[in-house]
Amino acid sequence: MAHELRTPLAGQSLVLESLLGAEPVSEAKRNEYLKLAFAENQRLSHLAEQFLTFSRLDRGKSLQLQKHEVNPAELVTDLVSLLPEKWKSANLPKLNISPNLPLVSIDQSLLTTALLNLLDNAWKYSHEIKNITFSVVATHHSVQFSVKDKGVGISSSDQKRIFQRFFRVDQLLTRRRDGIGLGLSIVQSVAQAHGGSVCVQSEVGGGSTFTLELPVS
Ligand code: ADP
Repeated sequence: MAHELRTPLAGQSLVLESLLGAEPVSEAKRNEYLKLAFAENQRLSHLAEQFLTFSRLDRGKSLQLQKHEVNPAELVTDLVSLLPEKWKSANLPKLNISPNLPLVSIDQSLLTTALLNLLDNAWKYSHEIKNITFSVVATHHSVQFSVKDKGVGISSSDQKRIFQRFFRVDQLLTRRRDGIGLGLSIVQSVAQAHGGSVCVQSEVGGGSTFTLELPVS
């Protein structure tokens, strides 16, 4: 955790120091430095968000959900608009939203955080060419939000552990991606706080599907 916090902070300091230094910096270099500082700032914001949500959920049963009745299709449209530019450039995620979904009673901010975590993971744990689908379907008693990727996949033994706090699969791609192993534990806590659940289907090399299921109001 300390490393995850220090790396973007050190990156930002270095870039800002170069910009403020005595040496004149060309317009092109200045833009490049500012983009780097912005990227490090985004990393820090994401981390801060994870910590804050985690500590809010960690206070346990006293957690008061700010619940409202929400149309799942609208929730997804709002959420997709929050995704960073790289998603729009890649024309992702593909959306598959069933018509006439029932309303769900949710804490919109927490559910948005949980679904963004699933989308963020689908992106992080996919190779260069990404294929990510976000589906919302209804069963007779629930609404299911699924994020499907064609990424690296997860072995069945690791599938049993990925929802534990701070657990990260020990493999090359994971080590190369930012993360502290809190994302999925947050998703699980959010699902459970709503009386729902989250599960994974995955195959190493074949990709993963995470499904967050919520009871219908
Ligand atoms: P983080 O991404 O910060 O490491 P998470 O709790 O979100 O933490 O995920 C835990 C671990 O589960 C990740 O480190 C990764 O190894 C694995 N994982 C999560 N989502 C996926 C996915 N879509 N495909 C492959 N592996 C995944």
